Amino acid sequence: MDIVNLANTYYLKILLPASRAIAQKIENDDLLIVDAVSYGFIVSHFIDYVWEFQKGKNAEKKRHEVVEDIDKILFDFEGKRFKLGLLRFICSVNNSVKHVELDSKKHNVEICEYHGIINLSAFQEKDGKVWFVTDANEFDYGRIVLRRVTEIFSVEIISDSDGDEIDVASSLYDGDFGMGLSYEEDPYDSSDPSTAIDSMIWHCNPSCIDCGFGDSDCECSTYKFSDDVAEFRPEVRIIDFDGIMGQISGAYKRD
Ligand SMILES: [Zn+2]
Repeated sequence: MDIVNLANTYYLKILLPASRAIAQKIENDDLLIVDAVSYGFIVSHFIDYVWEFQKGKNAEKKRHEVVEDIDKILFDFEGKRFKLGLLRFICSVNNSVKHVELDSKKHNVEICEYHGIINLSAFQEKDGKVWFVTDANEFDYGRIVLRRVTEIFSVEIISDSDGDEIDVASSLYDGDFGMGLSYEEDPYDSSDPSTAIDSMIWHCNPSCIDCGFGDSDCECSTYKFSDDVAEFRPEVRIIDFDGIMGQISGAYKRD
């Protein structure tokens, strides 16, 4: 069995197209529970491929360790909403759907304490969105959870700086995966002064880390995130402030 090639095939033929399709549905407010749950299973099966690959290097490696590893590598960003891990949360949701309800007696105690009892009834469809609702939570599951995962797994792999093909299972661990992520970029071009004002507008209108909407469209303050504060949380955008201001106004002086 060539696990490296199989993992690449799984990514290219299943996870990547599924991620793009789900991202489109989230964007179009056209997401159903069957989409959200199916996508969770697809993501989870990809972890099995990565696990199989990792077991080839370390036979003792446990699946939940791989989940924690990938959470740290891909989803451990500043201001992350899911303290116990985004992927771990999705895996818990998968288990709860498969086994009627998440067994709170096993290693899921933390998850149950943090998110409440998870089962299929936590999902609700409304206005083209899938909501996750428990005693402790109420939020747009597509936008808050799946959107970020679809972003990562929509990345067209796979070649390194030398143009050689990267193996997705190993590149995840090497930190090479997702380097081509196309987050919204600062339009400022120091060789083109006309871009300075656009850049300042871009800087002054950050998107919400959680839902991706701007301040006026973000509804995160109406959600419930366990014990976390629910609010619009602007992403941090770093700009060349002095350079931009110098282009906008000749009178601008650096401190
Ligand atoms: Zn938001």
